[in-house]
Amino acid sequence: MTQLTVSPDKRRKIIEQFFPDPHQHAAIYKDLHRHPELSCQESRTASIVSARLETLGFEVQRGIGGHGVVGVFRNGEGQNVLLRAELDALPIKENTGLPYASKVEQIDADGYQKAVMHACAHDMHMTCLLAVAALLRDAREAWSGKLICLFQPNEERLLGARAMVDDGLFWRIPFPDVCLAQHGVPTKSGTIALKPGRVLGYLHSLDVRIYGRGTHGATPQLGVDPIVLASSIITRLQSLVARELDPKEPVVITYGSFHAGTDASIIPDYADFKLDVRTFSEKTQQLAVAAVERIIRKECEVSGAPIAPRLATVVSSPAIDNDEAATSAFADVLETYYGDRASEVIQTMPLDIVADDFVLLAMPPGVKQIPYVYWNIGVTDPETWDEANRDGKLRDLPCTHNATYAPVIEPTLRTGIEALALSALTFLELR
Ligand SMILES: [Zn+2]
Ligand SMILES: [Zn+2]
Repeated sequence: MTQLTVSPDKRRKIIEQFFPDPHQHAAIYKDLHRHPELSCQESRTASIVSARLETLGFEVQRGIGGHGVVGVFRNGEGQNVLLRAELDALPIKENTGLPYASKVEQIDADGYQKAVMHACAHDMHMTCLLAVAALLRDAREAWSGKLICLFQPNEERLLGARAMVDDGLFWRIPFPDVCLAQHGVPTKSGTIALKPGRVLGYLHSLDVRIYGRGTHGATPQLGVDPIVLASSIITRLQSLVARELDPKEPVVITYGSFHAGTDASIIPDYADFKLDVRTFSEKTQQLAVAAVERIIRKECEVSGAPIAPRLATVVSSPAIDNDEAATSAFADVLETYYGDRASEVIQTMPLDIVADDFVLLAMPPGVKQIPYVYWNIGVTDPETWDEANRDGKLRDLPCTHNATYAPVIEPTLRTGIEALALSALTFLELR
């Protein structure tokens, strides 16, 4: 992976001359937003993005690792640059009040009907990537190399990148010299945040079933109550963070799901919960996960559970460490492009304890890691953000994975297109 020294005006000229139609792309965004699909069910979305890539003249492959789509644009000698966006949405009932709000419901893998919403800006990421595909196709006389536009399924459960790799991704595409991805966050729209080194954390996700013994609610002495048992595990695991793990190391343990029983008078046979363990260091991650598993097993034992608990690891995802050289090359390109506005637009990306399996697309099995850069773009309306900032109310703004999360289309789309196009033009050869 090398970046090339060229006249700074070249990239600006490419972006200005070939900037894709904002109205057409706002319409694509609204359509994707209105029609979200749950992880592993992204068939409509995959059809939309592959049809668009085909229209643009990309070689398109579908159905990689589920609904994954890859479009390759071969444009002569040069580096192979991979750009990623995500296809999937979340089981959340949208409450934004937007005219293009989702009313979609789907049956999830657990058999339950769920409302579905793009509450993680994946619709924005896809729109930016399609726009950049159009921009670079139209600007093909100005660069050379191979552009790989990858649309990953199942990012919300952090299993889609692995599924694509296991399905032979690296045999199907020109081997990437660099992998690039951006993510929307609820900071001020029009800003881009990046930093070399570690930016996102580790994630270990567990599905747990605690067994009790069902009985009439009036005769608890005849059963083992899995709801009381699971509740005690859930509260106890929070004290693991406060009392057992190093206070210098951040740890987040969250239960996003807890289900048990059917009615007040019945003590059920089992209780189910799902939890995530997140940290910033591999060692702390191992300690925390081992402690979580130990506490769950021992609590079940001392409570007289008739069967040992079932613990299933659903996801185990590594942290994101941006490549130093690639990130600083991209940062230089951004600085030059934004010129006088650079200090307003470009920010230092804060360390964030979320995870993203994008990193696995840069870790082909048995081969040296591919350099990668992952950055954030703000999606909150600039005036709303400034006002909240002035009033000390930033934490009240809608955040990702929330039913009221509503990215403002502009200047988010423009900034996302500029950032993604400039990232590719940092590494493609300019003619
Ligand atoms: Zn998300
Ligand atoms: Zn996301």
